[in-house]
Amino acid sequence: MAVYDPKSLKAEEFINDGEIQETLAWAEANKENWALIDSILEKARPKKTETGCVCSGLSHREASLLLACENPEKIQRMYEIAEEIKMAYYGNRIVIFAPLYLSNYCVNGCLYCPYHLKNKHIPRKKLTQEEVRAEVIALQDMGHKRLAIEAGEDPVNNPIEYILECIKTIYSVHHKNGDIRRVNVNIAATTVENYRKLKEAGIGTYILFQETYHKESYLKLHPTGPKHDYAYHTEAHDRAMEGGIDDVGLGVLFGLELYKYEFAALIMHAEHLEAVHGVGPHTISVPRVKKADDIDPGEFDGGIDDDTFAKLTACIRLAVPYTGMIISTRENQTVREKLLRLGVSQISGGSRTSVGGYAEAERPHDTEQFDVSDQRSLDEVVRWLMEQDHIPSFCTACYRAGRTGDRFMALCKNGQILNCCHPNALMTLCEYLEDYASPETKRIGYAMVERELERIPKDKVREIARQNIADIRSSNRRDFRF
Ligand code: SAM
Repeated sequence: MAVYDPKSLKAEEFINDGEIQETLAWAEANKENWALIDSILEKARPKKTETGCVCSGLSHREASLLLACENPEKIQRMYEIAEEIKMAYYGNRIVIFAPLYLSNYCVNGCLYCPYHLKNKHIPRKKLTQEEVRAEVIALQDMGHKRLAIEAGEDPVNNPIEYILECIKTIYSVHHKNGDIRRVNVNIAATTVENYRKLKEAGIGTYILFQETYHKESYLKLHPTGPKHDYAYHTEAHDRAMEGGIDDVGLGVLFGLELYKYEFAALIMHAEHLEAVHGVGPHTISVPRVKKADDIDPGEFDGGIDDDTFAKLTACIRLAVPYTGMIISTRENQTVREKLLRLGVSQISGGSRTSVGGYAEAERPHDTEQFDVSDQRSLDEVVRWLMEQDHIPSFCTACYRAGRTGDRFMALCKNGQILNCCHPNALMTLCEYLEDYASPETKRIGYAMVERELERIPKDKVREIARQNIADIRSSNRRDFRF
């Protein structure tokens, strides 16, 4: 039987079933131990230091205990601390991105995904480079600067060379004042050599969702195809880091398996990356399984209601304070509104999940990966964020300035966010307002920018940001950053 070892490179040792079962039993036994819960909540709170503020995070056991706790007052306290952490490290910025579906050819048999090989009635489509260009122009015309590319797994139709060619095309398109400055990649687990190629192509984060950490369920949910290999999939982030990619993203497809199991394993995975590579995951995504072409989410065992989903999100925030959290348009406006207060730092907006969907005037459904719940335009999403006092940020500065992995974390810990990320967010928001926003969004946006500029602590930085914003408003000069 595998023994738990967070430093091991073997999936079943760092995501260890025995350790997860013990964690869940311990959490269940202690879920009304108020003194223990209070001490964990106290530990999770951000603490002020001379240079900024620090957060210790929580172990998978501590975080699992909070998740098991059902007391409304304690849950409310979790929400408050999640918001405190979010504000301490990320401030009120929300980074915006869009997914770009390149191809829905796939040789896997994933039971929750309509792109599975046996689905014979879904049209199969793979973008040509000309079509990639058209999609990117449509995305730039909306105002996007950051994409997450998505593709099924198919070594013949979507080999790594195809993905690399698409990345090159995406970065090469400069339409009007637009450009895509960061391409994150969500493709199937691959080899160290391929990760090295992705790194050389200039990608941002490599994102791979585990779907479920429960091995037995994983094998059933992925009955055929290369994705059936649990260890190869679970160890992919280690290979990506070995290939030189500093920023990796984790995620669970919630709804497939029991959420408490997934949660403990997800935090263990973060602990493993930190223990082995000295830096935890750059992001954690929290997708929930959705209705899709031939997929009914009701067929899976782990569906969770919105309140449980909110608690789970807050507990992730408390456990891994420095990790960005992503919520997509799988969730509707109401859920997104609540989760933004609980520590989410990135959202997608104006998304289409079909191959070639952005270049179409009407939202196409035939090749969609899942139903999009939040169908508002990017302009509506940007305005809505500002109305809730979040700054929509199109910033991509960190990775372009080499602040990836632990260097990004250092920025967070030194409290330099307000002198760096905050002005970058405001400058990129101004680019959006100037080039793409509707008159009403522009009005609300510039009022917000005026208010928020005053919050920059260093006089010099504030002055430069003001000057750059004046340039953005009066000329075509773009892409300023600290
Ligand atoms: N083919 C790559 C892989 O296997 O990791 C890329 C994945 S796919 C384009 C992106 C993600 O969509 C998957 O990892 C899965 O979690 C999610 N997904 C698939 N079917 C879904 C559904 N019905 N509802 C919500 N999310 C789904």
